[in-house]
Amino acid sequence: MGEDFLTTREKIYKLLVEAEEPLSAEDMVALLGLGKKEYSRIQEDLEFVIRSVKKRSGGAEIVEMIPARCLTCGYVFKDRQKAKRPSKCPRCNSERIAGPWFILKKSSRK
Ligand SMILES: [Zn+2]
Repeated sequence: MGEDFLTTREKIYKLLVEAEEPLSAEDMVALLGLGKKEYSRIQEDLEFVIRSVKKRSGGAEIVEMIPARCLTCGYVFKDRQKAKRPSKCPRCNSERIAGPWFILKKSSRK
């Protein structure tokens, strides 16, 4: 039962803590058992979690983003900071975009 009392943001944080592989917002929607309708809400919560993890841990924990990429031409959205998936590739106009993915890193700086 317990986990039902967690907020979505706490659940996202927990997923990031437990994940061994980077997760996309879509992976999180699936892992949390949510519908596609929840996708944009998850992205907002995820952006909040990314900011709050850094603040709360004083920089000891950071959510690293692995940029989205185009599955058609391999273009990497390096400069994009948002958790939201880009809708279109600027190079080939393909809409087959994967990622971005997120993973929690602990800083080794003490
Ligand atoms: Zn492309």
